[in-house]
Order: sequence, then C-alpha cells, then structure tokens
Amino acid sequence: MDGEIGSGDGRRQPATGIEPEPAGACRRRWFGHAAHDQAPGPKRPSWASPPRPRPSRGSRAVSSTRPSSESLVTLDGSRGEGGGQILRTALTLSLLTGRPFRVSKIRANRDKPGLRPQHKAAVEAAALLGRADVLGCEVGSRDLVFRPGAVEPRDLTIDIGTAGSTGMVLQTLHLPLAMRAETACRLTLIGGTFNPKAPPSPFLERTWRGHLANFGMPVALATPSAGFYPRGGGRLEAWIEPARPKPWVRTTRGDLLRIRGVAGAANLPEHVATRMRDRALARLADAGLNVDAEVETASWPSIGQGAAIALAAEHAGTAPATFVGIGERGKPAELVADEAVDELLDFLGVVDGAVDPHSADQILLPLALAEGRSVYTVSHVTEHLRTNAHTIRAFLDRPIEVEEPLAEGRPGRVVVG
Ligand code: ATP
Repeated sequence: MDGEIGSGDGRRQPATGIEPEPAGACRRRWFGHAAHDQAPGPKRPSWASPPRPRPSRGSRAVSSTRPSSESLVTLDGSRGEGGGQILRTALTLSLLTGRPFRVSKIRANRDKPGLRPQHKAAVEAAALLGRADVLGCEVGSRDLVFRPGAVEPRDLTIDIGTAGSTGMVLQTLHLPLAMRAETACRLTLIGGTFNPKAPPSPFLERTWRGHLANFGMPVALATPSAGFYPRGGGRLEAWIEPARPKPWVRTTRGDLLRIRGVAGAANLPEHVATRMRDRALARLADAGLNVDAEVETASWPSIGQGAAIALAAEHAGTAPATFVGIGERGKPAELVADEAVDELLDFLGVVDGAVDPHSADQILLPLALAEGRSVYTVSHVTEHLRTNAHTIRAFLDRPIEVEEPLAEGRPGRVVVG
C-alpha cells in the first residue's frame, strides 16, 4: 500500500523507537478499560499451559529440547500476495518455534518494495523480544535473516516513527507474547491506527479481538488517539493475557442480528462524520437488508487530521465482521462511506461465509498453532489467505487446506489439522 495514504511514509520522526521494559516486568494485574465493556475482563484461563522454562542468556529458545527447530526456513517474499504479511508471519513463527529464517525479495509486489518503517519496527521488536540476531533490518532492505534466541515476554512501547500501521506490529507480537508470557503484558504502539490495506483500530477492537476471544485468547485494546497519514502519532494499547489458542469450527453464518458502526473524524468539520453516517445508513436501507442499523458519530483525538467509518455486521455465533472506509484529502465523505458499505454488502452476498475476507488470513495463524482441528468458511478466498497458508506450512508440520468456492456466491473453506 505504499504510495497510498497511511502507507507508513509520513516521516514524523526520523527513527523507530522501541522502549523495552525489563524482562519480567509484565503486569501482575489486568487493567480493564472502560472502552471495552463488551468483553469480560480477561482472567488467566485455567487451561493456559505453564510457561516454558527460560533458557539462559544467549541460548536458543527451543534448541535445547527440539534440535530440529534450528533448521533454516527460506522464504520467497515475492510469492503469492508478495507483501509484508510473509515477513510478519515468519517473525511470529520464528519466535514461537525457535527456527531461524531467511526471506528474500521482501514485499516484491508492492510499489515501494523492501522493508517500510512499520516492518522494520516489527522486526526490531521481535528481535528484542526473542533476543534474535538479525541481518538486513534497514528500511528498503529486500533480504533479511532472523535467528531467534529465547523469547522473554515483557511490556513494550514501540514508536513506529511514521504513520505506519500499529495493527500490523501488534499482530506480529501478539502470539509470542500471549503464548510465552506468565502474566499479562502491555504493548503500546505509536503510529497509524487507520491505514488502507491494513487492520484499522475498529476492526482490531471488534473483529480481531472477537475472534481471539472465541479461541480463548483474551486481549483488551484501547485507542486513546487516532493516527492518520501523514502525521501518524496514533496510540494503540494492548493488554495481552497468557493463553494458548483453542481450535475453532464454524461452517455456517448465523442470523444477521444488527449492524453497528461509527463514523469519526479528527480535527475536521463536524459535517464530515455526519455525512459519512447518513450515506451509510441510506445505502444500507436501499439494499433492503431489513436489519437494525445504527451508526454513531465521533470526534477522535489526534495530532493530525483524518476521517473514517467502520461498519460491523453482527451475526449470531461469530465475531462481528468490520469493514472500514478511510478518508483522504479530496475524497468526498460519501465515497468513504460507500467503500465500507460496498465491502459489507459483498460479504453479506456470500451465503454461509462465516469469516470476512480480512479475518480469513489473520485467524489462520492462531488456529494453526491450536491443538486440534479447525474448520471455517470464508466469504472470499484471497491471495493473502493462500499466501499465509504457504508461509505457515514452511514452519509448521500441519496440514492446512484452503478450498476455493464451488460456485459464485458460495463460500470457500479452510481446514487446519
Ligand atoms: P503494505 O505494504 O500494503 O503496507 P504489507 O505488504 O505489509 O502492507 P500485506 O502483506 O498486504 O501487508 O498484509 C496486509 C494485512 O492487512 C493482511 O493480513 C490483510 O488481511 C489485512 N488487511 C488489509 N485490509 C484490511 C482491512 N480493511 N481490515 C482488516 N484487515 C485488513
């Protein structure tokens, strides 16, 4: 998405800043947040497995018990979708398996190939968390080698330094923190919270977090300030409980219960949010959905200007599916709303696609790490999904099938294990 707004090129600060807190400084207590009253305050699940013993400094995370984990994984970063997800998935799995990896042709299919500041921040944070040796971690680098050591979960504050996506960094670090920590860890990320082609904060809060709750992985999120291109400066805070993912089966879509949304703007005239809201509600009524739909307006604190609308389709039995339109200079508010509505209607148009196209690739990683078989239907089989399956297979000895839809308007299916 480089070259587009929110691509991470807003040079708010010259360099990435990562502030580690001492190892073992993870929170002893859960701090709830008022903005997340829909989610029960996470408790340490009784089934959460005890943490692995921590090897001494300089030793390798897994090598002492699983020598085969040392084999180098080689990845072609231009394969399939050819984006940063290949790198992010590899970082997560390298930390969790102890396997080093080399990725070449990083983000070869993007306008500005190679590492962008948010990818560099993710690599640096993963390296800090896992005491890794890294070669090739510069903005623009197309070739990277990552050799993990022992994962030492801790609280982290990461300033991407640009408007690069905070959500992508969160998703890279979440599983190693959750699956290796003894107590809840706090992750504070500073950068963009609304980036095109990346998980925006309302999606993370409602959809990603909802899926994780279904897998038994409680996360609390707060976004005290929004970050838009070019200034960034948004703040995403996550409290991550120790947990291991449980398998999940969902092959039908429950009844559509309601649509809830928020149209928000930062440092822009009030009519921007109300126009987005009015357009979205009018389009939903025209579509004849005959469903309870409400969209609230919000004024978001931010150091920059920006606008976005998020629409969540709430179905019985699964996490809400959230679709977001993001404003940019010269783009009418109505068009921003249209983008979110179009995506939502596309999703609803596929019978029994239980999982939205963005979640489809994102939930594959936790489910591949869960013990037991998972099966879920997806409204669309995307290149991100196929590519993520390929990257995961390179690290884990698990069968993962991505089945294409049998006909137009029918869902695809993912089977793990
Ligand atoms: P870029 O170069 O475009 O900044 P990237 O190359 O680092 O990004 P990709 O490989 O394209 O990243 O991965 C994008 C990720 O963002 C995927 O997991 C995809 O599902 C997710 N994503 C994209 N758009 C949305 C959206 N609107 N809502 C939620 N998630 C999204």
